[in-house]
Amino acid sequence: MEYVILAVVIAVVAIGAITGLVVSGRRRKELDRPSQTPTITAPPAADRPSAPTKPTEGAAEPTAPPATAAPETEAPEAEAPETVEAGAGEAGTAAAPAAEQPVEEVRIEEAEAAPAIEVPEPTAGRLVRLRSRLSRSQSTLGKGLLTLLSRDRLDEDTWEEIEETLLTADVGVGATQELVDNLRTRVKVLGTRTPDELRGLLREELIKLIGPELDRTVHSVKTDGGPAVVLVVGVNGVGKTTTTGKLARVLVADGRKVVLGAADTFRAAAADQLQTWGERVGAHTVRGPEGGDPASVAFDAVKQGIADGVDTVLVDTAGRLHTKTGLMDELGKVKRVVEKHGPVDEVLLVLDATTGQNGLVQARVFAEVVDITGIVLTKLDGTAKGGIVISVQRELGVPVKLIGLGEGADDLAPFEPGAFVDALLG
Ligand code: GDP
Repeated sequence: MEYVILAVVIAVVAIGAITGLVVSGRRRKELDRPSQTPTITAPPAADRPSAPTKPTEGAAEPTAPPATAAPETEAPEAEAPETVEAGAGEAGTAAAPAAEQPVEEVRIEEAEAAPAIEVPEPTAGRLVRLRSRLSRSQSTLGKGLLTLLSRDRLDEDTWEEIEETLLTADVGVGATQELVDNLRTRVKVLGTRTPDELRGLLREELIKLIGPELDRTVHSVKTDGGPAVVLVVGVNGVGKTTTTGKLARVLVADGRKVVLGAADTFRAAAADQLQTWGERVGAHTVRGPEGGDPASVAFDAVKQGIADGVDTVLVDTAGRLHTKTGLMDELGKVKRVVEKHGPVDEVLLVLDATTGQNGLVQARVFAEVVDITGIVLTKLDGTAKGGIVISVQRELGVPVKLIGLGEGADDLAPFEPGAFVDALLG
């Protein structure tokens, strides 16, 4: 009997031991499984949007390994476009449109998510509204000249000081001489010199130098159908992209439909910057791959503009001024390629007013490379050198059409000589 009881106890212990082994074996298998799962779970982990749902309890432990495994599986995906470009046969051709597609999708999503389209104020009278931004030029040039002219005696020294004031404000040697000669003659003839008379004289002479008769309209509508094409050129940093964006607002404010071309493919942020400007006023931006061919982006932008039936295509170009030949090749090509659609209507050169003589040197180089039809002077709010309006026009024989008076979205004003001189004289 005792033997029987002993045999039963041994049997129970043995069964218990076997069951324990089986269970622990299963658990180990379960723990081992994660080392295989990353290759399966990693792709969804790469498409983050569907991944965030928390895994089931059983998978709670395995999530740690995939977290470290994920980057490894993401890396090949990120590199995929490169292998595609290298010409990976059928995989490449299949993947190429797929690689471009997401960009389109992102664009559409962004457009949908964009805030309500802004309608900027009409541009008439903008310069008058922004006149206080010219305060530095006003105190140096306008007030400085009026104070000197109001002296009891206008002797040689005073006229020299007047000359110096004009030169300091970047009016330029030729224009300064002309202005001083005319003022001297008229003051002599006038006899009396009340403050109002002096202000009137100075106003007339300054406006005459600026050229009230010049055509300052930005040619933004073609008369024979199709969009007008405006190329915006200038050295990096002068405010070219910002100006292109602001100009889109100016045109939209004045009732035009606009397409933007982000042909400054060399500066990484330029296309994003331009697209953001465009989205704010509902203007579509055509862009290409970073470092891509600017001419082909410009061509596509005009093509898009024709297809969309817009009034104006504004093309922001690259502003690398390494060498004149490089610039000529780059800008010349953009212009030539765009002209396959028809003639370019406007080439606006953007210059930073704070750079003074340096700006004039740049202007000269650009003028040799492309036919500039208008000048945009930016950053006039940050300088006392308002006279550059006069010198740059004389230098290029081309009118200033727009001026930048701040970093705000609507701080770009059509240039009006009378309003400008009034702002200078206070
Ligand atoms: P790009 O390299 O020529 O395209 O230059 P950006 O358009 O990126 O502009 C360079 C900087 O100049 C930016 O910080 C702009 O906000 C600034 N900027 C552009 N126009 C004006 C202006 O009229 N006044 C001021 N104060 N800043 C400006």
